[in-house]
Amino acid sequence: MMIKDYAREMIGKDPVFADIAGQKETVWINDRYLSFAHVDGISQLIVSDEDIAGAEERLRRFAPYIRKCFPETLPDEGLIESPLREIGSMQQALIETFGREIPGRLLLKLDSHLPIAGSVKARGGIYEVLKHAEDLALEAGMISEDDDYERFADEDMKEFFRQFTVQVGSTGNLGLSIGIMSAFLGFKVKVHMSADARQWKKDLLRSKGVEVIEYEEDYSTAVLEGRRSSDLDPKSYFVDDEYSVPLFLGYAVAAGRLDEQLKEMGIDVDGEHPLIVYIPCGVGGAPGGICYGLKRLYGDNVHVFFCEPTLFPSVLLGMASDRYEEVNVSDFGLTGMSAADGLACASPSGFVTRIDRNLLSGDFTVEDGILFDYLRMLKETEDFFIEPSSCAAFSGPARLMESAACRDYLQRQGLTEKKMTAATQICWATGGKLVPEEIWGKYMNTYL
Ligand SMILES: *Cc1c(COP(=O)(O)O)cnc(C)c1O
Repeated sequence: MMIKDYAREMIGKDPVFADIAGQKETVWINDRYLSFAHVDGISQLIVSDEDIAGAEERLRRFAPYIRKCFPETLPDEGLIESPLREIGSMQQALIETFGREIPGRLLLKLDSHLPIAGSVKARGGIYEVLKHAEDLALEAGMISEDDDYERFADEDMKEFFRQFTVQVGSTGNLGLSIGIMSAFLGFKVKVHMSADARQWKKDLLRSKGVEVIEYEEDYSTAVLEGRRSSDLDPKSYFVDDEYSVPLFLGYAVAAGRLDEQLKEMGIDVDGEHPLIVYIPCGVGGAPGGICYGLKRLYGDNVHVFFCEPTLFPSVLLGMASDRYEEVNVSDFGLTGMSAADGLACASPSGFVTRIDRNLLSGDFTVEDGILFDYLRMLKETEDFFIEPSSCAAFSGPARLMESAACRDYLQRQGLTEKKMTAATQICWATGGKLVPEEIWGKYMNTYL
């Protein structure tokens, strides 16, 4: 096993990196976390409030089309949105089973049950496909922004899109979201799947007429090959999970939507009522965009932690090493496969690791085995499932008060016991709805 020199140096200096190389669970507190006021100006230059508002408006323009094609979005009038749920029984079970302290209210954001794609990728992925479709249709004079976008369901529009191809590299869920939406609009679609991708996700895509290309290598290879294949075809568009700004914007829109839901529940987020959010993280796009949106909205009153598998802490390493996309988990000797297939990314997004470098509070790494314990616990206490990758989020509240590094962070941020008692903690469930029935049975009986 080859460990790179820079990695060896980090391992020698800091026990967090020794834990990582030893494949042990660990917590990293961001050494460059800054108060939002210091970050605001610079980050606005890259992704501004107007950019996020523009993405929101675009999704609103498409709402009549989405509502027409996907009746499951009727309750939200064609917006692709998910419930926010209190999970008091799960909170109690986490406290009792693990003997942990979990102050405040524990909520679950159910992006696991987002319409159309059944994962958080229904935010960024579908947004980027819609934007691309709109760009093409505007350019060709097929529509204008003031039209009723139900027009996108017309046969001549589908015929128009059939001359174009959309491609993407994926561990599974991004492929599902891009594949389903693009095929629906009429595009030809090629999804490049890494070795970690689940068979049922490939089968589902093929059933929708999507071409699935399988690789024996990891996610980075699938992205590289997808990008190469797309570059050869002038009528092909590549959704680039490692660099895409539209994807990021689609995810960032989640913040404003969450804010409305918190208000409806009568939950305040302010100096006395902190919000703490835990999001499962792969390449960084989805959690990175959500984190960014939340920081823009709540500033120092929100604290965002990512959760990554012990075998794929790519965003943690990209940030902590300040090497960004120039880091690979194999540099630290990590080469295994993970049961958290949605999070199995060896190198992080260069875009997200940079833009969130001063905004992210920290990162928890999680062993695969515990994900299935959380999965069973959620089923027993709240009677529904989320997929194993998603369950990584529970390791946040379960470990926040136990970790010395976290306690130190809370103290430095002035998060006293009183404030923590008034806190809202949110685990972000990132996938699950489309998992076939028989697979849940297998997950329930997986003990690692
Ligand atoms: C993709 C995914 C994530 C993380 O998103 P990234 O953009 O890869 O960081 C988390 N959970 C699930 C279930 C996913 O599919």
